[in-house]
Amino acid sequence: MLPISVGSGEVDGNFLSDDNSNEHFDVIIIGSGPAGYTASIYTSRAKLKTLIITGSLPGGQLMTTSEVENYPGFPNGIFGPELMINMKQQSERFGTILITDEVTKVDFKRRPFRIYTQSSLYTAESVLISTGATPRKLGIEPEQAFSGRGISYCATCDGPFFKDQHIVVFGGGDTALEEANFLTKFGKSVKIIHRRERLRASKILQERAFENPKIEFIWNSSVIDIEGDNKISSIIIKNNKNGEEKKLNVGGLFVAIGHEPNTSIFKDQIDMDDKGYVIVNNYTKTNIDGIFASGDVHDYRYRQAITAAGFGCMAALDIEKWLADKKK
Ligand code: NAP
Repeated sequence: MLPISVGSGEVDGNFLSDDNSNEHFDVIIIGSGPAGYTASIYTSRAKLKTLIITGSLPGGQLMTTSEVENYPGFPNGIFGPELMINMKQQSERFGTILITDEVTKVDFKRRPFRIYTQSSLYTAESVLISTGATPRKLGIEPEQAFSGRGISYCATCDGPFFKDQHIVVFGGGDTALEEANFLTKFGKSVKIIHRRERLRASKILQERAFENPKIEFIWNSSVIDIEGDNKISSIIIKNNKNGEEKKLNVGGLFVAIGHEPNTSIFKDQIDMDDKGYVIVNNYTKTNIDGIFASGDVHDYRYRQAITAAGFGCMAALDIEKWLADKKK
């Protein structure tokens, strides 16, 4: 692994001045989840000089996940952090350079493209955005302590761990209803708690949930506390209309109140939809020639490690072709 020296030149506000660029790359990948690592395995193996700027939590969302049972190739499952360390090592094996730093600013209006971190400036012929998305949190104090100990943000990932338990899904959108339906395969009971008395989810998913005898709805309510020793045993909910509080015994709480794409640094640089997801056209291309996107940063539908890895592979192949065409 090549350590990259951090520039020591004149700092322009937070950023180095442009003549202080540390190094130039064929590809800079921003983000180190399954999309970013997979893309880097392909681009480095294709002998493209590749840099990953990992962000402050290398490995992304899977670093805070326990066991992953549905990533192909691991018949007995694999822990999320171990999977990501394997991907990192596989990427380094082909020569990818990694730096653990946060991107603070990008300039896609000039070529080569410019990527600024707290202390350095990097330039690149092409850029892959794979910064992912962050699940929206309940925002209550015990949430972090119980994350992975009964609280989950992904039913597809964690549902089978909650066999024969009382499960609560919090949220009223398509994801909440789809996840609740899925969780009825495992749970003894599934309650959907929503902050209003009308669902945001599509009609068909509403009908499916209303018809499912294992699903019960609790309206106008929020989760205000979580209790348990090592693992969740109960939650306290509060009715938003009359203030009444109630304790529910639960083994699993699935928070499904949407995701926030990690795209604030790309604002005014590339096209995004009204929720801030990067818009891709023609497979993995953004509206700017030479800037590509892969994974949860554009995909709000599937959001799986394997689909993000697949998008990463697609983006790398598109980048290789784009760079080759450019050279011609
Ligand atoms: P979403 O549509 O934004 O719904 C989020 C839900 O969480 C809403 O019911 C919202 O309540 C609630 N919520 C948001 N912030 C909250 C907070 N701080 N506290 C309590 N509740 C909160 O998100 P999503 O369900 O994840 O769906 C994201 C996108 O993916 C949507 O476009 C959806 O259609 C799509 N999707 C489609 C499918 C499918 O077609 N099969 C499946 C999954 C997702 P309010 O209703 O009160 O605002």
